[in-house]
Amino acid sequence: MFDVIIAGCGPTGAMLAAELRLHDVRVLVLEKETEPASFIRIVGLHIRSLELMAMRGLLERVLPHGRQRPAAGFFAAIPKPVPQGLDSAYAYRLGIPQPVIVQLLEEHAIELGAQVRRGCAVTGFEQDDEGVTVELTDGRQLRSRYLIGCDGARSTVRKLLGVGFPGEPSRNDTLMGEMHVGASREEIAAKAAELRETQQRFWLRPFGEGVYSIVVPAAEVGDRAKPPTLEEFQQQLRAVAGTDFGVHSPRWMSRFGDATRLAERYRVGRVLLAGDAAHIHPPIGGQGLNLGVQDAFNLGWKLAAQIRGWAPDTLLDTYQAERHPVAQEVLDNTRAQMELLSTEPGAQAVRRLLTELMDFDEVNRHLIEKITAVGIRYDFGEGPDLLGRRLRDIDVKQGHLYGLLHRGRGLLLDRTERLTAGGWSDRVDHLADPTAALDVPCVLLRPDGHVAWIGDDQRDLDDHLSRWFGKPTG
Ligand SMILES: Cc1cc2nc3c(=O)[nH]c(=O)nc-3n(C[C@H](O)[C@H](O)[C@H](O)COP(=O)(O)OP(=O)(O)OC[C@H]3O[C@@H](n4cnc5c(N)ncnc54)[C@H](O)[C@@H]3O)c2cc1C
Repeated sequence: MFDVIIAGCGPTGAMLAAELRLHDVRVLVLEKETEPASFIRIVGLHIRSLELMAMRGLLERVLPHGRQRPAAGFFAAIPKPVPQGLDSAYAYRLGIPQPVIVQLLEEHAIELGAQVRRGCAVTGFEQDDEGVTVELTDGRQLRSRYLIGCDGARSTVRKLLGVGFPGEPSRNDTLMGEMHVGASREEIAAKAAELRETQQRFWLRPFGEGVYSIVVPAAEVGDRAKPPTLEEFQQQLRAVAGTDFGVHSPRWMSRFGDATRLAERYRVGRVLLAGDAAHIHPPIGGQGLNLGVQDAFNLGWKLAAQIRGWAPDTLLDTYQAERHPVAQEVLDNTRAQMELLSTEPGAQAVRRLLTELMDFDEVNRHLIEKITAVGIRYDFGEGPDLLGRRLRDIDVKQGHLYGLLHRGRGLLLDRTERLTAGGWSDRVDHLADPTAALDVPCVLLRPDGHVAWIGDDQRDLDDHLSRWFGKPTG
């Protein structure tokens, strides 16, 4: 009997497993594939994900595997400088191969005590009042208290759960791959620069000796399960660029679409969804992996609280209440960005206008904060603007704030030095620090770093400790 079975060891499943292990939850991750994905797609980790890594002491491990890039220029690929005043100690984007980040997260989860079984797909399940019986490919059955579908866009768990996945099907497919190129560097650079003026869904970027990473629109929407052929690439390059650049000997080839869909519910009883299993959208802006990892970060401590028995009644349901609107917003911004990539004259005119508007720093910053998820404010009720937002990493007397969140517990950051976490001290740490760089007397942080309370009154604080951390002990 496990406490939680997670279907899928992608970035979302691995992050969730690690978060649950911080609270000693017995976790099993079942992964259909025997080996991690072999193709090397570079993904961008955005500011909020880098902050999450810093909060769990993972950032030092991740940084050497990636390349730091400016935190700008990714809204609809409109080239703009980094806006002034991005309020984060980690205000950059980290380009990193997806298989590497998945491997690092999986290793982290295993070190914390999660079990991962590869070559093991979830094929069915049945839930009752006490738990979930999960069926595997080989007909075996396992039992757990909860099942979480982190099994990607074609999620078996979501389908078996009967949860609707409304939205739009793919209308534009794009081919992507890495291959050798016969044309000279100069010829490629000149053609790419010429096409960038009008065709935003095309690029050729050098990726080592004579090898290029290539993205080009597909002729039609195809079967995602079947990789494209080299002939398809050649034909599409000729159609878009007038030459196939002498491409040959591909390392890998794939296609992706612009389907945009959001699960109607994230929870049915003891089964929940996270990551691509709950939402899909085109990769413009590079948000999918970030969104999934952040879902896991939101869900982990809440599910652990439920299993440990201290969760207030409604805590687990705040997962959907908080994360569904965030995904809805991401879907909307990707819809808007896809319109801005269109080659239609009207869309091109809107793109030129937005390009002008982004010269206003506030507009540029607003869009970057949207994509990097630092602009998120959960609805915790009436209160100052900081309530419901994440607190940036700030200097405190022990060093820096995020260094105090590694164990995934709540934190009372108290400049008054007279408040206490009292009967919640087994779940919430207390740091009395009059030097903390805060402009409010005291904040209560949830384990995900969001501000759950601001004030200086002990009774009010106790009410909020109960709201988020359940009944006091003793
Ligand atoms: C071209 C492209 C570029 C992208 N660039 C970025 C980017 O820059 N930044 C970004 O944030 N995102 C990016 N994304 C999106 C990102 O890749 C996905 O959002 C991310 O992989 C989702 O993670 P996940 O863990 O939710 O799902 P997945 O990564 O799909 O993982 C799901 C896992 O579940 C396993 N599985 C499936 N079914 C079962 C089953 N029945 N039982 C057990 N296991 C199962 C799968 O094998 C897989 O390992 C990009 C996507 C594309 C296509």
